[in-house]
Amino acid sequence: MNAEIIAVGSELLLGQITNTNARFLSQHLAEIGVNIYYHTVVGDNEDRLEQALKMAQQRADLIIFSGGLGPTKDDLTKETIARIIGTTLEYNEEALQSIQAYFTKTGRPMTENNKKQALVIKDSIVLANDNGMAPGMFIKAGEKQYMLLPGPPREMQPMFLHYGRPEILKTMEKVERIESRVLRFFGIGESALETEIDDILLKQTNPTIAPLAGDGEVILRITAKHESPEEANRLIQQAENEILERVGAFFYGYGETTIAAELAAKLKEKQVTIASAESLTGGLFLGELTAIPGTSACVKGGVVCYTNEVKEQVVRVKKETLASYGAVSAECAKELAENIRQLCGAQIGISFTGVAGPGQLEGREPGTVFLAIAREGEETIVHSLKMAGSRTGIRKRTVKYGCHYLLQLID
Ligand code: ATP
Ligand code: MG
Repeated sequence: MNAEIIAVGSELLLGQITNTNARFLSQHLAEIGVNIYYHTVVGDNEDRLEQALKMAQQRADLIIFSGGLGPTKDDLTKETIARIIGTTLEYNEEALQSIQAYFTKTGRPMTENNKKQALVIKDSIVLANDNGMAPGMFIKAGEKQYMLLPGPPREMQPMFLHYGRPEILKTMEKVERIESRVLRFFGIGESALETEIDDILLKQTNPTIAPLAGDGEVILRITAKHESPEEANRLIQQAENEILERVGAFFYGYGETTIAAELAAKLKEKQVTIASAESLTGGLFLGELTAIPGTSACVKGGVVCYTNEVKEQVVRVKKETLASYGAVSAECAKELAENIRQLCGAQIGISFTGVAGPGQLEGREPGTVFLAIAREGEETIVHSLKMAGSRTGIRKRTVKYGCHYLLQLID
């Protein structure tokens, strides 16, 4: 079944409100396997509503309207639809009674236009409004189905879930369930990742795989449709296995997680302690880690060593190291990581030094970063990074790189 949504309301076109109804309906329709190909927004104008409706009739089996069911003159959704499908409006006794009851209860006088809200399209299935006055409607006319829902989300959402969606399900021969899974990657660019799995992306129809990039991360959403949710999940698993075989080294977690949260979980699980010396990140790394509950067993502490004095006097980087190589150097990063580990009595010491920008530092370009990881009885590893982007972006990504390298190291 394919459907489209027409949101009616001039305030949507004026930018006064966001079309959250379309979003809500799309999400819930996708879950029951109804394809949504178009969202339309149209003002409270009969001619333009008519045009939008006629356009949708050519494309969709089901047309869902939101808004314009109220008592005022500008509310003309049901009138317009009734006219175009060649039928009329009639009073719905139940709706009329509940409107009357509402006015009796609140002690306000009922006006003639309030009665208008009890008018429904003839032969429609009336969808009760448990949170307001205007009832919704579901009508079959010819080959097409129409659903009319009120504009206010607090009325529309429960109406759709309790009364609207079941009506749609009744008309569907088989209900395809949509299952989806989100895989998160860091340390690989979007185009590099897409190139790695190019052939998988090309051949997929069910499941479909949609990449999304942002904040130095790549997200793949795998979505499968099937009557049985188990089968949909099996299809997803198959695609996931194929993808991870190629780019598993960059995968860090599912769904809404963050790379810092994954690191915190890993530290806890493996009972590893950590300390950090942070120059360009200014404490962001420990800030992220300690924001996650339960990290106190793993995080020993750290030093924000923004100046050379603090690097030297607090973290005990050798004067000669700073004089010969500078603060933005592999040598300085190495000493910072090794010393902070010892000073804090942690199993792992990590350091971040570099140029966040916008200007150069010590003749080095913004985005030059050295990140060192020191471990007990192991050779210290120094990563040299070159990043582009804003100061904030560079600092955030540096923290993510720290988490990424640590996740690869801790087993
Ligand atoms: P009412 O009886 O309140 O007039 P209605 O069905 O006539 O309801 P509208 O007049 O179109 O609906 O909109 C009423 C309110 O509902 C809007 O002011 C807005 O706050 C909200 N609303 C309408 N359409 C949407 C939408 N598409 N997304 C989110 N909110 C909406
Ligand atoms: Mg209205």
